[in-house]
Amino acid sequence: MSTIVLAGTAAILSAQQRPAPVLAAVTILRPARVFDGESMHEGWAVRVRGERIDAAGPAGTIAVPDAKVLDLPDTTLMPGLIEGHSHVFLHAYNETVWNDQVLKESLGLRTARAVNHLKATLMAGFTTIRDLGTEGAEYADAELKQAVEQGIIPGPRMLVTTKAIVATGSYAPKGYALQWRVPQGAEEADGANVIRVVRDQIGHGADWIKVYADYRWGARGEAAPTFSVDELKMIVDTARSSGRPVVAHSTTVEGMRRAIMAGVETIDHGDSGTPEIFAMMVEKKVALCPTLAAGDATSQYAGWKKGEGAEPAGITRKRASFKAALDAGVTILSGSDVGVYPHGENARELELMVSYGMAPLDALKSATSTGARVLHMENRIGRVREGLLADLVAVQGDPVGDISALRRVRMVMKNGTVW
Ligand SMILES: [Zn+2]
Repeated sequence: MSTIVLAGTAAILSAQQRPAPVLAAVTILRPARVFDGESMHEGWAVRVRGERIDAAGPAGTIAVPDAKVLDLPDTTLMPGLIEGHSHVFLHAYNETVWNDQVLKESLGLRTARAVNHLKATLMAGFTTIRDLGTEGAEYADAELKQAVEQGIIPGPRMLVTTKAIVATGSYAPKGYALQWRVPQGAEEADGANVIRVVRDQIGHGADWIKVYADYRWGARGEAAPTFSVDELKMIVDTARSSGRPVVAHSTTVEGMRRAIMAGVETIDHGDSGTPEIFAMMVEKKVALCPTLAAGDATSQYAGWKKGEGAEPAGITRKRASFKAALDAGVTILSGSDVGVYPHGENARELELMVSYGMAPLDALKSATSTGARVLHMENRIGRVREGLLADLVAVQGDPVGDISALRRVRMVMKNGTVW
């Protein structure tokens, strides 16, 4: 049967008539300009049909009869933004210190907060997140991902890692009486047992495997490497045979080197990265997720009054290492470690990337087209292009001239639905 049935007329059909496909709703978005994930186009419009982008181009070329038109004057329409490093099960550390969040806040309480965090993230224009560890909240990230997918709660599309993997004795909470085995914020594993833990996390819904290649367990409390290259390789091989990539937390040169050798796909933080190690990342096609906003926030929690007095040494170092990564040509995935600071303020990372020397257009790419490629989602999101999912955000002004325009969100669309 070829008859097209419009919504609203289906009720008058007899029960015997098989319903024909309902015409997907068509919306034309008319902003001042479109950032398509690669470059800026003045005077473009975008046509959305159902959950997908149907066309994008000069406004005059994409009009169709009967389409709903959404005028978005003075705005820039962009692909929905990507947050490459979030923790929706954490809230700002100046509200509650990390140890207490992990040990004293119950799973239900943390989940209730996380539901709010997901909504705040979506409404801030971040339509996809890679959430990098529940920090003691078990597998609740995979569970909330289901809730979002089933339309039970609003939120971005989620890539989750569940518990993340740490070497025994290296992680936290620390500082308790030594006779107690204090529950840890991630899952401990060592030697060949890492294989079982990777498989178990995959079985519990992990899309990526996260491993801590170093942590603050050095002889003087400094960051030091944890897993051997062999252990990291077992993690990467096990994850890869299921089609899942591995992300490494790493701040030290040796931790980064081992993670690169083992075949991880992104290194997150990279604080002590050198030109040599960044060159190695370029050669092995490993992306950096810089999390500039985390150190910026924790330095302020520690008393730094931004704009007053000397910049903390940690910030100066981070500025220098990020610049070295840019100079080396490392692929950058925008990711902020949000959770350290309030959810919904994810744009801080892009502001800081620009303030630390990245071109605004490159910063936008790292949170759209480049980010999508790093996350293996380039065939679904990250560009304003025919056929991709209609994840779109309109912000007031032009973020290339003023990156803070990203904070002035005027419209968020995910999967073709306006939130
Ligand atoms: Zn993190």
